[in-house]
Amino acid sequence: MSAHAVRRVALLVALLLLAGCATVPMTGRKQLSLVSGSEVNALAATEYGKFLKKNPPVRGTPDAEMVERVGRRIQAAVEQYMKKNDYADQLAGYDWQFHLVEDKEVNAWCMPGGRVVFNTGILPITRDETGMAVVMGHEVAHAIAQHGAERMSQQLATQLGGATLAVALAGKSTQTQALAMAAFGAGSVVGILLPFSRAQESEADKMGINFMAMAGYDPRASIGLWQRMAEASKGSGKPPAFLSTHPADEQRIERLKKDMPEALKRYEKATGQKPAGAGGKKKSKGK
Ligand SMILES: [Zn+2]
Repeated sequence: MSAHAVRRVALLVALLLLAGCATVPMTGRKQLSLVSGSEVNALAATEYGKFLKKNPPVRGTPDAEMVERVGRRIQAAVEQYMKKNDYADQLAGYDWQFHLVEDKEVNAWCMPGGRVVFNTGILPITRDETGMAVVMGHEVAHAIAQHGAERMSQQLATQLGGATLAVALAGKSTQTQALAMAAFGAGSVVGILLPFSRAQESEADKMGINFMAMAGYDPRASIGLWQRMAEASKGSGKPPAFLSTHPADEQRIERLKKDMPEALKRYEKATGQKPAGAGGKKKSKGK
């Protein structure tokens, strides 16, 4: 091992000891955390502001109001859950925002700190308010599970030539900013498609249907949503951004079904009624 390599390993070990791990709410998974939440939030705030300046949000339409309404309901449910389970400090510095942007591409994302964007192009697939809640719950879950910070930590751990995040950001090169957007799940905006890992995707699915259920949306709508996603990715050549980073395969739907009983219990608790199955007395909207 060269002296240089030894130094890199020593630096990595020191960083791991210093920063160590974070715990994902709800799933309890331990994750690598070399980047602080406040660093990531500050970066996301800047990038989100720049994005909205270039892409002014749609305002005052029923669709824009729906994005806001679904977002606020899920935000309230998540805040209540985090408070009850001693994770409230993880929400410090969050700045929840829910915007609809005119863009034909099928896409939606949530940056660290709760900054959400839905493209108009995803609305034919979400179809109604409950369908929108499936995607909203999933995207908010990526932020709550700090998947963006985890990905940046993983990148730093593999590239520890000495440059820390602070140094990398001080440069503010276009490339650094583009990589940050990609790490946060908004990569298609800058043309870098960097999907979350399968483990992160499953985690976001599981947390997402629980969050939507706590907000009073029927989590079973998630199955139909992902089936429509699968339909939309069939046919014409290159799949849209969201579909290429979110494979809507059999496995995904099977895992969702496995996670459904827990989510249904939360739905029952939130709405104060047994979930109406086929032939139930109260038909829920958007099944
Ligand atoms: Zn995802």
